[in-house]
Amino acid sequence: MSVLTNYYNVENKIKKITQRNIQIVAVSKYAKDSDVNSLYQSGIRIFGENRVENALNKQGTFPDSHWHMIGSLQTRKVKDIIGKFKLIHSLDRENLAQEIEKRSAQKEVITNCLVQVNISKEESKSGLHKEEVLDFMKYLEDFKWINVKGLMTMAPFTDNPEEVRYVFKDLANLQRELITKGFTNITELSMGMSNDYLVAIEEGATIVRIGSEIFSN
Ligand SMILES: *Cc1c(COP(=O)(O)O)cnc(C)c1O
Repeated sequence: MSVLTNYYNVENKIKKITQRNIQIVAVSKYAKDSDVNSLYQSGIRIFGENRVENALNKQGTFPDSHWHMIGSLQTRKVKDIIGKFKLIHSLDRENLAQEIEKRSAQKEVITNCLVQVNISKEESKSGLHKEEVLDFMKYLEDFKWINVKGLMTMAPFTDNPEEVRYVFKDLANLQRELITKGFTNITELSMGMSNDYLVAIEEGATIVRIGSEIFSN
């Protein structure tokens, strides 16, 4: 099947379960440029990459596309990315926040970020433990150039998405708790990948990050 058909299939599955407007980030990390181009030619503009270099290369190839940085971000790469991403999904530590703040201020650019949370506490995953997020949110309040738009998580890999429903529920509960504590701007929940996005949407995802279901034939 063509990648475009795959993309529309994802859209249709989403429409069947919700009337909310869900943002699909087409994750191109394993995709051929020709496949990204097929989507691009059809007007699809929102893409995600987990590596800075790949994202910057593809940005050059596809003008007016909007890129999301979804992978863990090394502090030394921050200077290369300010102003180039719609949203950074992986803000998870103080020194990274400091560097984003400093470089954003230099360029006078507000950088939109999500705080990444490691709900499942798998050691292989980055992100804060949920108990740490409130303090981190308070810490970020002083940062003028960082706009925290919401939370992001990655569930453990599974063939049965019901097993990871609790991950999405927990993130949504954390969001509600933070909103009641005054962090009313954190409206986005980036959760759900090819294996589990329908369950994530049922639990409140506003952004899903889909790679293999779109790009593997
Ligand atoms: C690769 C990746 C995705 C997409 O994964 P698929 O299972 O291919 O849909 C989503 N989020 C992050 C952070 C990723 O690294």
